[in-house]
Amino acid sequence: MRFRILGSGPGLPQLDKNLSSVLVEQAGKLILLDTGEGCSKSLLGLGYSADQIDLVAISHYHPDHISGFFMLMQMLYLNGRSKPLTVYLPENKDFIIESLKTMYTFREKFGFKLEFKDCSEIGAEHPQIVFAPTDHLLGYQKQIEAVGAKNQMKSFAFRIKGERGDLVYSSDLSTVDCIEPLIKGCHSIIVDALHPDAAQIIKLKDLSVKRVLLNHGISDELDMIMAEASPEGFEFAEENRWYEI
Ligand SMILES: [Zn+2]
Repeated sequence: MRFRILGSGPGLPQLDKNLSSVLVEQAGKLILLDTGEGCSKSLLGLGYSADQIDLVAISHYHPDHISGFFMLMQMLYLNGRSKPLTVYLPENKDFIIESLKTMYTFREKFGFKLEFKDCSEIGAEHPQIVFAPTDHLLGYQKQIEAVGAKNQMKSFAFRIKGERGDLVYSSDLSTVDCIEPLIKGCHSIIVDALHPDAAQIIKLKDLSVKRVLLNHGISDELDMIMAEASPEGFEFAEENRWYEI
């Protein structure tokens, strides 16, 4: 398995970083996790044809994780994709279906069948992918009630099994604890280093993870720890390179 972080930036745009997106090549399949702004351009730069992406999964609906989704669909459509595509969504599939229509992007006119399913269904069709819900959006309860919205606060982390070891993409987290069983024994983790307390990230040392890629920005506390003496196996996530497992 190999993977490439197409976007490693936090929610606040940075000049030198793209927004959240990870491309995984595993057993001949191309999996795209999150579609932050810039992902289409990155895929184009890598020379992939429109038919090469096998599946897309969105961890949650914050703009830094979904902002490139509609351009990705437009690119696949205009580049003549013909292979069916399933996109796994965290919640409220109708929001995406209606948004496509609103943008005059009618999937009925696409040259490929575009289907939407719930992230919780991903393992049924792709047993090499395991998911776990995260606590990232749980703090929104009061705001959701206050405006009478129907958001379900769903956010997911994914583990992709590989022959030589597994990869976990945490997406955004409040704590690492919420996905501890998903992480245990994996080879590499791309972890949100911005939101959780530094102690939560350092705890990954105890979960037998060989490589911890600090992604999505970094908290001041963790940045200080890394400057003093970075724990073994901990490194800053980099865009524009392939990581192998
Ligand atoms: Zn984010």
